Amino acid sequence: MVLFIALMAYIVYFTVVRARTVVNSPYNQRQEAFAETVIRGRITDRNGNVLAETDVAEDGTETRNYPYGDVFAHVIGYSDPDYGNTGLESVENFELLTSNAFFVEKIQNEFSGEKNMGDTVVTTLDADLQQAAYDALGSYKGAVVVMEASTGRILTMVSKPAYNPNTIAADWSTLNSDSDNSPLLNRATQGSYAPGSTFKIVTTLAFMRQNSGYADYTYDCTGAITRDNVTIHCVNNSVHGHEDLRSSVANSCNSSFANIGLSLDIGKYRETAEDLLFNSALPSVLNYSRSSFALNEDSDTAEIMMTAMGQGKTMASPYHMALITQAIANGGTLMEPYLVDSVTNYAGTQIRRNVPKSYARLMTSAEAAQLKEYMTAVVEEGTASVLSGRSYTAAGKTGTAEYSQSDSSRTHSWFMGFTNVDNPDLVICVITEGSDGSAGGKAVSIAGEILDSYYN
Ligand SMILES: [Zn+2]
Repeated sequence: MVLFIALMAYIVYFTVVRARTVVNSPYNQRQEAFAETVIRGRITDRNGNVLAETDVAEDGTETRNYPYGDVFAHVIGYSDPDYGNTGLESVENFELLTSNAFFVEKIQNEFSGEKNMGDTVVTTLDADLQQAAYDALGSYKGAVVVMEASTGRILTMVSKPAYNPNTIAADWSTLNSDSDNSPLLNRATQGSYAPGSTFKIVTTLAFMRQNSGYADYTYDCTGAITRDNVTIHCVNNSVHGHEDLRSSVANSCNSSFANIGLSLDIGKYRETAEDLLFNSALPSVLNYSRSSFALNEDSDTAEIMMTAMGQGKTMASPYHMALITQAIANGGTLMEPYLVDSVTNYAGTQIRRNVPKSYARLMTSAEAAQLKEYMTAVVEEGTASVLSGRSYTAAGKTGTAEYSQSDSSRTHSWFMGFTNVDNPDLVICVITEGSDGSAGGKAVSIAGEILDSYYN
């Protein structure tokens, strides 16, 4: 009797808890068995625009069709019998191959040998905003992430160069051999970049935590700082003069941040970075690369100065920097980012719905409010002033990250920020690879273009 009950308990546990994981496993050959009785369901944006659907020809041949071509390539992914599933096609494989079609209809299909229609996955993505971000990025390699500040809903995730999921099988060998462009890589979550000056927000928080009198910080910038025979320059050798912490952030003053970095307790600096999810897992259903913060007690002066201003060995993805920004905009609490709003049957009857939930508190609300004020100064009087005077208010941080040892004029351009500062609305993070020099200029102008299209 005991053995029987244990067996039953395991079957129930397996069906309820484990089935989804097992079915979604790429090692499970039986996925094809599901596909024999169910036509793979649709994926739509939040307004019902179809992002992926299966067309069935008269002879029964099924073709997965992606109406937006390469615009949603990385976030939606592809589903191909020979090359498997990626993106949401992989994450939601179980739902797409499950049919909650009406009971009577399923019985009729059973008798007539017809397939049932799989369920529809309604994403949080916004096709108009995604298209605007795709267009604004133009021919740059890079990525854009947009999410709602108070809910964590992801509205946009663009990565370029992209690929066309409609022709994935035909293009497979070309895409895989293109190591210069890595078009299959989702740069938004898997891209690993030096965060450049966007990381000064992390350094600022560490300084605030280690100095209760941080508001009294002052520094006289002469355009460069030298310690232990290592010299750090401000961008274009700008001389920023007398600064406090706020203007150091607004001007993105490298010298001031190198100075701040040298004053920090490195162990506590590391703790702050790790509170912001460096060296740790991120909440993400998509594959991502972990961010790294490498300073320790043995790091030398050069390494500390470089790290404080966002260079050195620190690496982060655009997605991660968007999460940090979201937590700041949301009063210190990071909302768990999500991509699926609901699952319905093919006729639109709701099966389940995701609701916003908090993931972790990354900082106190007082710390978030202070960083928000500094990021507002960046837009009002600092390096992102091109975003001031628009139909919405914005706060943020620009960044320029050097990545070439041989050619320091080649830089990645960053912007991370949020809109409607008093009651934050959208969080945005943009990176463009290989722009020419000028302090974060490209990414911030692209962010402005995307936000304009949303609000106007
Ligand atoms: Zn300076």
